[in-house]
Amino acid sequence: MREVLVVGGGVAGLQAAVITAKAGMDTLVLDEGEPLVCSTDKIQNLVTRERIAGDEIVDTGRERVRSFGGEIEDTTVAGVSRDDDPGPFTVTGDAGETYTGETVVVAAADEFGFLSPLRDEIEFTDGPEGAFTTERHLVTDEANRATTNVYAAGLANTWEYQTSVAIGDGAKAAVNLVSDRRDEAYIDHDW
Ligand SMILES: Cc1cc2nc3c(=O)[nH]c(=O)nc-3n(C[C@H](O)[C@H](O)[C@H](O)COP(=O)(O)OP(=O)(O)OC[C@H]3O[C@@H](n4cnc5c(N)ncnc54)[C@H](O)[C@@H]3O)c2cc1C
Repeated sequence: MREVLVVGGGVAGLQAAVITAKAGMDTLVLDEGEPLVCSTDKIQNLVTRERIAGDEIVDTGRERVRSFGGEIEDTTVAGVSRDDDPGPFTVTGDAGETYTGETVVVAAADEFGFLSPLRDEIEFTDGPEGAFTTERHLVTDEANRATTNVYAAGLANTWEYQTSVAIGDGAKAAVNLVSDRRDEAYIDHDW
């Protein structure tokens, strides 16, 4: 049983996993290996660099997840379900393998077929018209919660197609997830 299962290992999912793993939560990222940033070596608009290759962001993010004890598996998630609210969740891979988790972070950009077992509790909204905008997003509250113990991050949650937004949204989902689990505001900070 994992405390956190992250579906999608792009920048949003990896950032969420860095925070939950560093917070000491048993974290597993399930990713089918097609982060959008990896399609370019010229990610622009980050505050720290004029340009950075997407592969470098993802490779560094993966290293950092692992450095905090998190794990990453290459798999395509086919289903996320639970017998009771609040859980646990059963996550099924396309080869039939299963994982159980107490919480789920959905960071799979615009791929949501695996959420159909939760269709009665999760809502979607259309994104705005425009080049590159994705069609659908999960409806979440101010703390990135889509339903009990399910959080959404990055393009799964918002239409703003910038890497920095996806990274920040992954951080926000994770900080709220840890805070919910601990029932107090969680801040990762050097004192
Ligand atoms: C060519 C290009 C250039 C870009 N340039 C810039 C730029 O200059 N500046 C900028 O700010 N942004 C840029 N972007 C946008 C940026 O890449 C995205 O906004 C950002 O990467 C979104 O991150 P994400 O984690 O939400 O989604 P993604 O990176 O798409 O991550 C989602 C992950 O989930 C995985 N996944 C999906 N379904 C499943 C499933 N069923 N099971 C398991 N895993 C699954 C996918 O394989 C993927 O790895 C660019 C994008 C592209 C394509």
